[in-house]
Amino acid sequence: MIETEYAHRRIDLMSWTTYRDRLKDDPIIFLPAGALEQHGPHLPMGCDAILSAAMAARAAEALDGLQLPGLRYGYKSQSRSGGGQLFPGTTSLDGATLTAMLRDILRELARHGARRVVVVNGHVENQWFLTEGIDLALRDLARSQEEMRVVRCEYWNYTPQAVLESMFEGAFPGVDLEHAALLETSMMLALQPHLVDLDALPEDATGAFPGHDVYPQTGEGVPSSGVLAPARAASAEKGRTLIESTVAEMAAALRREFAI
Ligand SMILES: [Zn+2]
Repeated sequence: MIETEYAHRRIDLMSWTTYRDRLKDDPIIFLPAGALEQHGPHLPMGCDAILSAAMAARAAEALDGLQLPGLRYGYKSQSRSGGGQLFPGTTSLDGATLTAMLRDILRELARHGARRVVVVNGHVENQWFLTEGIDLALRDLARSQEEMRVVRCEYWNYTPQAVLESMFEGAFPGVDLEHAALLETSMMLALQPHLVDLDALPEDATGAFPGHDVYPQTGEGVPSSGVLAPARAASAEKGRTLIESTVAEMAAALRREFAI
């Protein structure tokens, strides 16, 4: 199970004395951020939390870091990137709640002496609320002259372009429309095949949206399955390639960022 993957790096699975001793080496601390959100009839709703945790675990392993328990709820699903809030099960936070959670966690980490944090986001809609949580926490810390350096990343931005081109044969629909589609289905097949129901995979369809969002959300343009782009070409092999190449780029970028 993902819950105990790289367990030796999981802060929630270690004692406080072990954590205290590990902090002396100034490790990079990884915090995955996901959502509880519909991901079509074939994927579990914790998909974004599972994938961000998997990326964070592998990056922590590569950089000798530590991993926090992830944020398993996220900001409200948007029609053009997650199908919207109209699906049963999509259980979302107000932006202020998500912001406050991250702000609190970062302040607590600083209090323990942590100085380097990477927030690995797996849910498009979280981005600016995570940014706000980081900004407010750093403002708090500046008052007490505590230093912390925080990276926020969306893991998919590290996936090499050449890998995407090889999988989509030049027709990559973009990250927003890739909701529950080829990329996420492939990575889930590689990581947690028992949680993927290939018999429930819907016929290929693509969301069709205007250049704006409408509120209250109507669901217009969202395929009835909740899958926003074709997924039937997904495979575990593609998933393994995606995960390995993404983690390698992420680790390299973070090595440069933290000069390690
Ligand atoms: Zn997702």
